[in-house]
Amino acid sequence: MLDLAIVGGGPAGLSAGLYATRGGLRNVVMFEKGMPGGQITSSSEIENYPGSAQVLSGLDFMAPWSEQCMRFGLKHAMDEVTRISKNSDGTFTLSLAGGKSEEAKSVVVCTGSTPKRAEFEGEAEFFGRGISTCATCDGFFYKNKEVVALGGGDTALEEALYLSHICSRVYLVHRRDSFRASPSTVERVKNNPKIELVLNVSVKKAYGDKMGLNGIIVVDKEGKERDIAVPGVFVFVGMNVNNGILKQQDGTFLCDMDENGNVIVDLSMKTSVAGLFAAGDLRTKASKQVVCAAGDGATAGIQALEYVNHHA
Ligand code: FAD
Ligand code: NAP
Repeated sequence: MLDLAIVGGGPAGLSAGLYATRGGLRNVVMFEKGMPGGQITSSSEIENYPGSAQVLSGLDFMAPWSEQCMRFGLKHAMDEVTRISKNSDGTFTLSLAGGKSEEAKSVVVCTGSTPKRAEFEGEAEFFGRGISTCATCDGFFYKNKEVVALGGGDTALEEALYLSHICSRVYLVHRRDSFRASPSTVERVKNNPKIELVLNVSVKKAYGDKMGLNGIIVVDKEGKERDIAVPGVFVFVGMNVNNGILKQQDGTFLCDMDENGNVIVDLSMKTSVAGLFAAGDLRTKASKQVVCAAGDGATAGIQALEYVNHHA
């Protein structure tokens, strides 16, 4: 029986692991289906983590986090959790992909979020063959070539700036003429001569051949079409919360959720179920920042420690 199971190894999960193990919990396993670090490892740079004045890639930035946790005894199981359920004695069962399961006295869920698809014609067909959601991973394939970045949030604009250092031209395609991204980022994009804004358009379809993508057709509000012939399209249209592991066999969720599928927590990251905590991007009203996820994770780790020591 684990004292604490942490699901997800992003900033929230790693911080929960650090605080729980350093606080004295011995049997703590972080289930992370990939390498620890979370979604920020796909980002080209992070420059807004307090106290970290050096601008690093997401991958470099997260590298020391797991090393630090492991020093205090956190274990990493490279497993995907498929479901968390509560047992009649108050403990939890974690079902793992592959059929095995683990029991734990308490659980912190930190499964974060994953990039959404824009759902235009041809997106699925050319995904991985010209269409991507990760500029750091795939940008280099388009060195000195033209690409599209789709979306109007922080991710789209920041990654368009990143791509402008590699590619000959970046078409920033957005369905409105104002942006969700922070004003300073919008300003940098507008002043970048390699970025062309293509605004008030939607993507009609992506086209290509068996070698891969050749471009997209966008259409404006009057129905006028434009062919943007590029070998690479980066889709940055927001994120979906990874709440699937909380779904029970009968289709209900293990704990209370808000109308957008985020886990409802109080200020201690407690969910509506005793011993179950949630932290980071998947909790309600999350600010979706590394520093906030880390803060949530630390709070959840401290609370899980208290729960196991006094209630479980
Ligand atoms: P995540 O980082 O999403 O980590 C969740 C982890 O859970 C993942 O590693 C995933 O593999 C794992 N997981 C999911 N489901 C399962 C399962 N069933 N079993 C096992 N493991 C599972 N924030 C900033 O503060 N500054 C920035 O500059 C910034 N730039 C960004 C750039 C990009 C391109 C993106 C996508 C995000 C950016 N963010 C930035 C946001 C930031 O990355 C997130 O807010 C933060 O990573 C959330 O942390 P988390 O731990 O909640 O979740
Ligand atoms: P986001 O803020 O939700 O923005 C998504 C963008 O995609 C919006 O501009 C939206 O258009 C557009 N969009 C949505 N669906 C679309 C579709 N089907 N077709 C075309 N366009 C579509 O997502 P994000 O940029 O990934 O950011 C997610 C969170 O992470 C945010 O809270 C963000 O602040 C944070 N983040 C922070 C940083 C940072 O702090 N430096 C960096 C990256 C991300 P509309 O605007 O018209 O809705």
